[in-house]
Amino acid sequence: SKKPRILILGAGYGGMMTASRLSKQLGYNDAEIVLVNKHDYHYQTTWLHEPAAGTLHHDRTRMRIESVIDTNKIKFLKDVVVEIKTAEKKVILESGEMEYDYLVIGLGSEPETFGIPGVEEHAFAIRSVNSVRHIREHIEYKFASYNGSDVKHDEDLTFIVAGAGFTGIEFVGELTERIPELCKEYDIAREKVRIISIEAATTALPGFDPELVEYAMNILEKRGVEFKINTPIKEVTKDGVLLASGEEIKSKTVVWTTGIRGSSVLEKSGFETMRGRIQVEPELRVPGFEDVFVIGDCAIIIDEATNRPFPPTAQIAIQQSSTLAKNIKALVHGSNNLEAFKADIKGTVASLGGKEAIGVVGSKKLFGTPAAAMKKVIDNRYLFLLGGLPLVVKKGKLNIF
Ligand code: FAD
Ligand code: NAD
Repeated sequence: SKKPRILILGAGYGGMMTASRLSKQLGYNDAEIVLVNKHDYHYQTTWLHEPAAGTLHHDRTRMRIESVIDTNKIKFLKDVVVEIKTAEKKVILESGEMEYDYLVIGLGSEPETFGIPGVEEHAFAIRSVNSVRHIREHIEYKFASYNGSDVKHDEDLTFIVAGAGFTGIEFVGELTERIPELCKEYDIAREKVRIISIEAATTALPGFDPELVEYAMNILEKRGVEFKINTPIKEVTKDGVLLASGEEIKSKTVVWTTGIRGSSVLEKSGFETMRGRIQVEPELRVPGFEDVFVIGDCAIIIDEATNRPFPPTAQIAIQQSSTLAKNIKALVHGSNNLEAFKADIKGTVASLGGKEAIGVVGSKKLFGTPAAAMKKVIDNRYLFLLGGLPLVVKKGKLNIF
């Protein structure tokens, strides 16, 4: 009989790790594995704050997909997923369509704008190699613009980061490293440049350990970051941001990091979603579907300890890939004995730029150099899982201390 086709949408953490695990666990004759992604490269979303600020070249965060997967067992297709038609068991792609027997949805996230006017038109987002390359070039261009015109515009040198969650804080940290370099390159005094982190909640990094939050804010303030806490943004315009208080801050650069929602393909395809994400069954299937699995930022799983969804992280996506691969393997082999996903959260470590970072690992708080070293170990660990030691040597962060 014909081999069943396992179709994996998206080559992020979830999709790549699922493809890689399935290729190791299934024999050639068990199934056909097809991986679809809009680029022919895989990038590490968790590193994107660095190329966005310009502290790391974007090529360091990406790799050609066919250089890391087993192309004897996985067929890679560069295409854009447009819509999923579950009734017909097929996926509409930009340049064709493809049927599946088992589907894995790992299309990642999109920026959450909360419908705030002007965000889509006027703000930047840290979401892909293309988007962060744009941010880096834009920032540099603003430095050049400032000195390149006779009339000086302070808003050219005002950089606003909307949302002080982990993405916003990590990006601000990188900016504090990059801005002094740009000041030197463009002959601009550091005091001319403003970096403003604007957060709606009553603290930066809401929900995180307060002592570590304070540590992070102190470090960043010492490097010249202005925090505006308890300050929701209500509109973004071509001239800057409007705060809920009515105040306007002029800026030519607003980077929007107020959280994420699931890929819009899910809503478009008629799935029931919460903030664009699908709440999955414990075995990672879409309720009511035998053959559709969801992984990573597209999936919501409730943490029984808090009765709230686990935050969307690479850590969870990677962990889900082992349950998901096992479950698809079981189905392919004719078993209905599926495993429930169990999260094993190891902790959270966030970089603050340079040799500074904060984190909680197990029950231990880390800050400063040990935290920054741990961050690099985590980054390298993923490369090891995906491509073994050779990939760590090729793409890893080897200067740990
Ligand atoms: P992604 O890794 O985002 O991959 C989705 C893939 O799908 C991409 O390759 C994309 O090109 C592709 N795709 C999207 N739409 C289509 C389409 N229509 N057609 C074809 N292909 C498509 N998490 C942590 O655990 N630790 C961290 O330290 C951490 N740091 C972060 C730092 C930053 C700056 C950011 C932005 C996020 C960070 N996260 C971190 C969160 C983490 O990056 C995400 O949770 C993780 O990337 C989710 O994995 P995923 O596989 O669901 O999606
Ligand atoms: P987030 O949801 O964690 O944080 C968004 C922040 O924006 C919140 O603090 C929120 O109060 C604020 N905000 C919302 N609306 C606002 C408004 N109108 N004006 C001002 N502020 C507003 O989102 P994120 O930081 O993008 O992170 C997304 C996911 O990725 C999270 O699960 C996070 O844990 C994960 N992540 C992890 C790391 C790490 O582990 N090092 C790094 C980056 C991201």
